[in-house]
Amino acid sequence: MFYIFTEKFNRKRRLVEISAVFITAITILTIRLSILQIYPSEKVQSSYQNHQEENISNINYMILDTNGKDLMKYDKKYVLVIDTKPFSLNNYEETLEDLMALNFIMKSENPEFNYTEIMQKSGKIYYNISEDTYNKINSLKNIKGIYTYITDEIDTKKAWSISNMFSKILDEEHQEGSLEGEVFNYLKANEKPKSEFYLDDRAVYAKQSVSISDNNKNLKLTIDKDIEDKVRAVLDKQEYSYLNNVGISIVEADTGKIRVMVQKDESAANINLGMQQIGYEPGSIYKVITLGAALDMGLININNTFMCSGKICKEPHGQLSVEQAFEKSCNDIFAQIGSKVGYEKLMEYSEAQGLYDRVLNLESGNRNEAKGVKPSKESGINNISIGQCMNVTPVQMLGAINTIVNNGVYEKPYIVESILDKDDNVVEDFKTDKKRVYSETTAKLIKNSMRQVVIKGTGIKAYIGDLDIGGKTGSSTGNEGQTHGWFAGYFSIGEKNYTMVVFTPEIEAMKGSNNEELGGGDTAAPIFKDIVKTLNMRE
Ligand SMILES: [Zn+2]
Repeated sequence: MFYIFTEKFNRKRRLVEISAVFITAITILTIRLSILQIYPSEKVQSSYQNHQEENISNINYMILDTNGKDLMKYDKKYVLVIDTKPFSLNNYEETLEDLMALNFIMKSENPEFNYTEIMQKSGKIYYNISEDTYNKINSLKNIKGIYTYITDEIDTKKAWSISNMFSKILDEEHQEGSLEGEVFNYLKANEKPKSEFYLDDRAVYAKQSVSISDNNKNLKLTIDKDIEDKVRAVLDKQEYSYLNNVGISIVEADTGKIRVMVQKDESAANINLGMQQIGYEPGSIYKVITLGAALDMGLININNTFMCSGKICKEPHGQLSVEQAFEKSCNDIFAQIGSKVGYEKLMEYSEAQGLYDRVLNLESGNRNEAKGVKPSKESGINNISIGQCMNVTPVQMLGAINTIVNNGVYEKPYIVESILDKDDNVVEDFKTDKKRVYSETTAKLIKNSMRQVVIKGTGIKAYIGDLDIGGKTGSSTGNEGQTHGWFAGYFSIGEKNYTMVVFTPEIEAMKGSNNEELGGGDTAAPIFKDIVKTLNMRE
């Protein structure tokens, strides 16, 4: 026996590296293995199972984008399993070379690895291995009682991304009537995907199959992964590294489908939904609603003129038309316009477009979408008309601004598109609410005013010569003297119209400046422009 071994040793120069100690160990082992093989005890022969199952994912449904692409970020975990009973049937004549190779490969992964210890154990032993080790071990076809598999683990670093939040639906308690609760009912009977391994008559796990329950359902979101990936790449640019966080939400204008909901720092609580917050002051982007209500009620005409004497504005703007007041974001004039509308009517228009209430209806665990805070009448119409004394979420403003882009019809933004069966047939299609808020004429007038803001007003940093985009800047007071910056606007990709809200929370207040718009105009508007340019680039 030792003669055969030595001959093999000489033939294979690479095995020279293996120490004498190891050779002795393997020799002892092969003797022991061969004894087991030649005289298998009744117990060994009868009690090993010929079939094993392993979970290959720690989530038992898929989260797909609108085009069917997998939205989850997984860490792949590679695993080697040694099933000790069939493994003990290995003998030197058949598998010595493979056993030595396995030992060599596993020693480099884990210096503690040794067969003597394995032989003393019972049941299955699991080893986490590298991808490289996984591939090497898979080329060893003759070893009895081993198999490998890959399991998907959710990347938890981006805990607050939309897809990560939706990955926890089966693990958390949901409020009755919440979106998660609704989705839970479709997914609760799902079983975890498994890999199955079968022993052949040589005690080798030669056959493997993946089993996914026929009854499993998957979740399809309205998100477009390709667009989201491009938006993330913009946010990761060095030039925005001075911003701790930026929230981007994009909705398809005529359907209300949210195509993008990302933030620069996905490890922070979701800002687009105001989670763990009560929402944020919208500041001047709220002027879109004040203007919409006044025009729609026929209280003003876009060319009427008003006087800014600098009561609220730091410097008086003098006499301006309504359109000019919108371009310059004049507070005095918007306070006057809001006073014409009145508190009750302004609240009616605001609530008709989803403000001060949950849009997606997400409510589970500590992940509660903020409802926002409706201003009280006592706050004063001057303050309310310019977006102060209230809280909203970026996704609420996304829906409200989109009413203008969608010709006056509010489409409540939504994010769950459908529930699919395992063959991608639609089990349940999700729809959204829509209602007309403004006349088409009103919407067109405001859209044109948003265009002027970008051409010559406070949003000039979003201007792109050859693209039709428009929007409104805003900045508002955050915690401890910090400012929130906003830019909400419209753009197109090909024939499709979109609304986007860029939100930059907690930026340093711009000191020594007379322009109250610097917050959103300087931080959010350039990002809006960058994203629109990127999305319109031909590949
Ligand atoms: Zn003014």
